[in-house]
Amino acid sequence: MIVKLDAKGQFSGIFMAEHSDKIPLQPANTNRMDNLLNEVRACTLCEAHLPLGSNPVVRASPSARLMIIGQAPGTRVHKTGIPWNDPSGDRLRSWLGLDREQFYDSNNIAIMPMGFCYPGKGKSGDLPPRPECAPRWHEALLEQMPQLQLTLLIGQYAQNYYLKDSYKTLTERVRNWRSCPPGLIPLPHPSPRNQLWLRRNPWFEEEVIPEIRRQVHELLDQS
Ligand code: SF4
Repeated sequence: MIVKLDAKGQFSGIFMAEHSDKIPLQPANTNRMDNLLNEVRACTLCEAHLPLGSNPVVRASPSARLMIIGQAPGTRVHKTGIPWNDPSGDRLRSWLGLDREQFYDSNNIAIMPMGFCYPGKGKSGDLPPRPECAPRWHEALLEQMPQLQLTLLIGQYAQNYYLKDSYKTLTERVRNWRSCPPGLIPLPHPSPRNQLWLRRNPWFEEEVIPEIRRQVHELLDQS
């Protein structure tokens, strides 16, 4: 993973490592990641806005090749500390053709939401991820994962943050997923609340999912 900064040093995008461009891991990388994850887990930056307090849910390793960037934990994930440990996660695993053991192998798969802590309830479902979180932590974590080759951007918050495109809707963006920068794939949220979207857009599960599953397995089978 290569993080790109603009002339003012602000985050402006990411590039994936080439498949053949394996960067040897140094022991120091693991130590740096461990220290960073300890810092993340101690974060209370926006705790004043969190109804259940801070409990950052993130999984990362310097050897990870696939990154999943989602939205924010729900209450069940907050309680267990396990990302995607809910019906949304069940559907995501089914889309990717991965069992729980494969999905939670952080040596291969990193998981970080746009907001690491449960943000609370709004009028129609959970509130958006806290806006402080991704700018505070994402770049630092991505820099410690040089082997990442594929990133799944799940839902509008991750896509709006990482994709500088002009699509007006998530549907339009997902339909044109092949036009995204290499290594970045936008997906709708697999929440049961999105059942209607899935029914209205059958092309997604019929055409897009098999191709994404193929790419994920090709990547994970490299080990
Ligand atoms: S949501 Fe992110 S920034 Fe806020 S307390 Fe949790 S880890 Fe820190």
